[in-house]
Amino acid sequence: MSKAIGVEMKKPVLVIEDLTVSFDGFKAVSDLNFYVDANEVHVVIGPNGAGKTTVLDLICGKTKATAGKIQFKGQELTKLKEYEIVRAGVGRKFQNPSIYENLTVYENLEMSFPRGRNVWGSLFFKRSHDVDDRIHEVADSIFLTDFLDTQSELLSHGQKQWLEIGMLLMQDPELLMLDEPVAGMSVSEREKTAVLLRQISTGRSVLVIEHDMEFVKSIADKVTVLHQGKILAAGKMDDVQHDPKVIEVYLGH
Ligand code: ADP
Ligand code: MG
Repeated sequence: MSKAIGVEMKKPVLVIEDLTVSFDGFKAVSDLNFYVDANEVHVVIGPNGAGKTTVLDLICGKTKATAGKIQFKGQELTKLKEYEIVRAGVGRKFQNPSIYENLTVYENLEMSFPRGRNVWGSLFFKRSHDVDDRIHEVADSIFLTDFLDTQSELLSHGQKQWLEIGMLLMQDPELLMLDEPVAGMSVSEREKTAVLLRQISTGRSVLVIEHDMEFVKSIADKVTVLHQGKILAAGKMDDVQHDPKVIEVYLGH
């Protein structure tokens, strides 16, 4: 009697196929095929202008695709509005933090908790134990437990970046996307951010754009190298960084 072979065929959480966007005839992303698995930290690297940020813009609906598909858990995202994509479970952090500087860390996290999906939910929203528990849990993971009552403008640059990641975590997205999260961070902040990203990838997928190779090595399950809107190489960091094509266009200089 033959037994089922013990290879688990996991479907990727995010399936991007033949994705193209052209801006006045210039293809910033060109026939891209790209997959992200569940619980995976997937890092996209590549030279400036490669199309990395545009890929995130396409996934979160900020930019509309010219052609191709983007499926998240089987749901087609190219037809959805930005807020519908957020509701589908995709959170995205931009390069500059968009926190409320005049509010405390606690209040910023509280504001990000998804309230009732209707007007009554938001009007009669009260601070419940659930919300308070979640805020403390998130504050702990972003290293800001001791800063919950601190006015956000007083945080360091790195702490502000963590707060914004925390605000996204309040929504518990299944796919979290981060564009250059450690830019401008100190070495110790970078190391802590690596810990944070590894930790939050349990139970969700994390898609990161990053330039800092030490950081990439410390977090990536998989690396995709983008060049001129196309994939140059993809795989484990060890393989990718020894790929002659990659060295030539990117790592070599
Ligand atoms: P990366 O993040 O890899 O540095 P981007 O995705 O920001 O690159 O940009 C890729 C290319 O697409 C660049 O040449 C950029 O000028 C162009 N581009 C990006 N967004 C737009 C847009 N909204 N309109 C026109 N050109 C754009
Ligand atoms: Mg960019």
